[in-house]
Amino acid sequence: MALTGLQIFKLLPKTNCGECAVPTCMAFAMKLAAKSVDLAACPYASEEARKTVGAASKPPIRLVKIGPPGSEVAIGNETVMFRHEKTFVHPTAFAMAFADDQPLSGLSHSIAEAREYCLERVGEKLRLDLILADNVSEAVAPFVALVRTAAGATGRGMILRSDNPEALEAALQTLDGQRPLIHAATPANAESIAALALQYKAPLVARAATLDQLAELTGKLAGLGVKDIVLDLPADNPAAILQNNTVIRKAALKNTYEPLGYPIINFATGRDAASAVADACTFICKYASIVVLDRMEYEALLPLMMLRQNLYTDPQKPIQVEPKVYPVGEPGPASPVLTTSNFSLTYFLVSGELENSGVPAHLVIVETEGMSVLTAWAAGKFTGSRIAAAVKASGIEGRLTARRLIIPGCVAQISGELEEALPGWEVLVGPAEAVDLGPYLKRNAAR
Ligand code: SF4
Repeated sequence: MALTGLQIFKLLPKTNCGECAVPTCMAFAMKLAAKSVDLAACPYASEEARKTVGAASKPPIRLVKIGPPGSEVAIGNETVMFRHEKTFVHPTAFAMAFADDQPLSGLSHSIAEAREYCLERVGEKLRLDLILADNVSEAVAPFVALVRTAAGATGRGMILRSDNPEALEAALQTLDGQRPLIHAATPANAESIAALALQYKAPLVARAATLDQLAELTGKLAGLGVKDIVLDLPADNPAAILQNNTVIRKAALKNTYEPLGYPIINFATGRDAASAVADACTFICKYASIVVLDRMEYEALLPLMMLRQNLYTDPQKPIQVEPKVYPVGEPGPASPVLTTSNFSLTYFLVSGELENSGVPAHLVIVETEGMSVLTAWAAGKFTGSRIAAAVKASGIEGRLTARRLIIPGCVAQISGELEEALPGWEVLVGPAEAVDLGPYLKRNAAR
């Protein structure tokens, strides 16, 4: 049960020493209640406080790790219903499904595609996270062959889906030590599948037809000693899955209902492309920790990757790049110098357009705490004096023969202040939109 700030405060030393980097014990207690600090930050907390607060601050949704050591995928550990309340923690993992009733020679190409798929966006490489081997044949040999091939070729964590305990055990032996996710324990086979999960130290999906059965099943599995559980509550339409996911998340977070305090797996398989994308988007938004897909088409994966990245970006920490001078192409002493803010999206847009223009340039990135140009200007963080300080600190002046600085057109009003702060420089007002940089630079290259 979660403790209130006041309940936690009563357990703290109340000396207000400030060593926890919070000025008072009361303020620290409030932060602990909001789960924004760790009790370990207070060196004077008593054993009783550690015990009581530690138990109460246990994550309401269990952290589960899948895959070989070093490349595990972590899911769960979420603490909020809505991203704006704090942040979502572990992005939905995408699993690509392959069935063992298909010839391996034909699947090898698709498995290699799953391994190679990578979308690069605002400095992040977005990939498929897991591979699901589906024992459609119900036979042991083809399942093991698929598991061995997919695990070896991709190095990704595996999900083993089978109703045949013999096939599951053979696949688990093949992946010993690699923590594959077993799919699935059901009310009918809970004991035998739990025994496999314990023997091979593998996380386990609990699958049941109703919420009550699912809660009963996870309670039973926990009683048998299985800790790492993932929930599967199938439904025949996305609206029902959305409702189930929301009820599960609410029960775990609002009611601290332990039997449903686990991450969720959803399937967007066996559907036409448009339906699969729509279903998967719904599941990512609310509240799938794993979404299983069976389509490798670029146009199906692109919106999913982008949605996931947007949802799982911490709203309290704008994504930003290091403030410094970035060469674009191979700029020389006479190449133009441009400047912009350190908001990642702005940096990648501007540097991308510069690259496309083919005009080598120096790009001075100013520390704006991840704000975009106009927001930073309004907040006094992208001003003439701050840009001048960034240019001087970068040391670029000594490497140039032509001191011309191009500023974003949307902050043309700072050009005078900037020229005063940067004597010897000519300040030029560039286009307001990054997309117009190429034509602008080509027009001005002749100068
Ligand atoms: Fe209080 Fe501990 Fe923080 Fe000191 S370090 S102010 S005792 S909570």
